[in-house]
Amino acid sequence: MWFETDDEDVGFPKSRCATCEREVVVYRTLDDAGQIACRCLDCNGPMPDPEGAWSRDELIEAGYKIEGQGSNAQKGSCGNCGV
Ligand SMILES: [Zn+2]
Repeated sequence: MWFETDDEDVGFPKSRCATCEREVVVYRTLDDAGQIACRCLDCNGPMPDPEGAWSRDELIEAGYKIEGQGSNAQKGSCGNCGV
């Protein structure tokens, strides 16, 4: 596989979360001081810088759902999982 840095499919940053005890998606946000901080997408806990990145497929395998594709994302209703 060949990665290109501008490819929007390249990645979802990930790192291991001590709270969740697994690898999670890391997102960046601003903390109270206006500094960029990394947080766990699952528990919102503080995280170190990402250790790598998942591709879209790997993200789905890890149990995440990707919103915003195709039709409008509908919060609170999932037509796929039957929950
Ligand atoms: Zn976490």
